[in-house]
Amino acid sequence: MTMFKEGRPTAPQAVAQEHMSPATVTGNRALMLEEPLIFEIGSPATTGVDFAEAPKIASRLGNLARQDAIGLPGLSEQETVRHYTRLSRQNYAIDLGLFPLGSCTMKHNPRLNEKVARMAGFADLHPLQPQSTTQGALAVIHELAQWLTTLTGMHSVAMSPKAGAHGELCGLLCIRAALEARGDARSVVLVPESAHGTNPATAAFCGYKVEDIPATPDGRVDLEALKTRLGPDVAAVMITNPNTCGLFERDMKTISDAVHAVGAFVYCDGANFNAIVGRVRPGDLGVDAMHINLHKTFSTPHGGGGPGSGPVVLSEALAPFAPLPFVEKQGDRFVLVEEETVEDHHGDSFGRMVAFHGQMGMFTRALAYILSHGADGLRQVSGDAVLNANYILRSLADVLDAPFGQSGPCMHEALFSDKGLAEGFTTLDIAKGLIDEGFHPMTMYFPLVVHGAMLIEPTETESKAALDQFVMALRSLAGRAKAGDEALKGAPYHAPRRRLDETLAARKPVLVWNESDLAQAAE
Ligand SMILES: *Cc1c(COP(=O)(O)O)cnc(C)c1O
Repeated sequence: MTMFKEGRPTAPQAVAQEHMSPATVTGNRALMLEEPLIFEIGSPATTGVDFAEAPKIASRLGNLARQDAIGLPGLSEQETVRHYTRLSRQNYAIDLGLFPLGSCTMKHNPRLNEKVARMAGFADLHPLQPQSTTQGALAVIHELAQWLTTLTGMHSVAMSPKAGAHGELCGLLCIRAALEARGDARSVVLVPESAHGTNPATAAFCGYKVEDIPATPDGRVDLEALKTRLGPDVAAVMITNPNTCGLFERDMKTISDAVHAVGAFVYCDGANFNAIVGRVRPGDLGVDAMHINLHKTFSTPHGGGGPGSGPVVLSEALAPFAPLPFVEKQGDRFVLVEEETVEDHHGDSFGRMVAFHGQMGMFTRALAYILSHGADGLRQVSGDAVLNANYILRSLADVLDAPFGQSGPCMHEALFSDKGLAEGFTTLDIAKGLIDEGFHPMTMYFPLVVHGAMLIEPTETESKAALDQFVMALRSLAGRAKAGDEALKGAPYHAPRRRLDETLAARKPVLVWNESDLAQAAE
């Protein structure tokens, strides 16, 4: 966490003046308690535990023995519990309210998934246990893999990648291995302008030259520009579908055919699978590799670096190059295949991405989610996700500019621009205003193809009442930003921290507590 004196609470009097309410002497607001750093409340002189005087024994550490106290703050047990509980209350979470982050699919995580993931038979397994004792866990991985290939219409799936971006890496490594196997090294990966930032990053990480493909005015890949650029130096095209403008790429099959015609592969960023699960099978659209973010489409809590899992479904052409290890059913037993052999059909694997089989906790949550919905339920998930996003789009289109509002219904997320806000008012002001209204801000300034973008993904798990409340908040903020209400530029007023200097936070992060550093950063 970065922390700056500047971003710390303004003196209570100053806050009070701004919104005309009497100050409190503590800085607390009702039951929202202000909380200093643990170093500021604890003292090295106090301790929560009474230790007997340590017996004097000769140190065997020689000159490696610590000479000075390390200055850890001392607090009683109750003080410690309160400190962390107060901090946890300053977090916003999907369990507190609607989390409109576009592209992130922040949906409710059914508690049933948690219960299943915590079952001792899964949670207490060790990855090095003999496979005869882990048959149930291997069966879960195998069954989940079958669901994923069935839902996507793909040939096989690599289960081990640990997040979406890791899955992209897996897919591109498969593509590179396939090209090398036919002695056809290629140097370029084409990425549409509206791609998620991880796509070009992954391609560059794999050593490819990344080239942009422009978008059409209606927010989709420019098919003609893509066709013109295709050639024998192109290894792959990475396309997000549904794309980050919240639109379905209708030309996907035509694109795939054109890409295949020049001997290249189609990588699909499947992070937005939530919008089409049960309705569209990417395999039917000519996709060669696609990651699925289990932590988005198939629930499980995520964000803040929380656990992810990014299985990659593969076409028949890429399947032989998939990473090790993988689960195979041999007779009535499940086997984790750890080694490649030239004799069997797995001799072409590009290698290994992770130490073990992948994210077991996520596999159990995802399978629990899938089984509790069933195929029909998953179809309803995507239907409701798209319905909710269109409800947001249509409920705000008269107060916020919807650049692709004329391109037909959106998919799972609604996109707005900052066009029409009063001079000097920005998307950031609306985002900060949302914090005061009790909502996590939407994704902003992404995708880059739209000026001052606001990307809102409500997900299917929000009720109409919750959507209406969110719409009401945004309508009010849009009205204020259009009317030039100067007070909005000071938002947030009610959050534990006021508006931070984000440039300073990015350029000069202070990650270690040190009084003199903090003083310097404040200057
Ligand atoms: C979330 C996301 C990713 C990256 O997935 P991680 O699991 O965060 O690595 C890639 N592309 C899109 C479109 C996404 O929404």
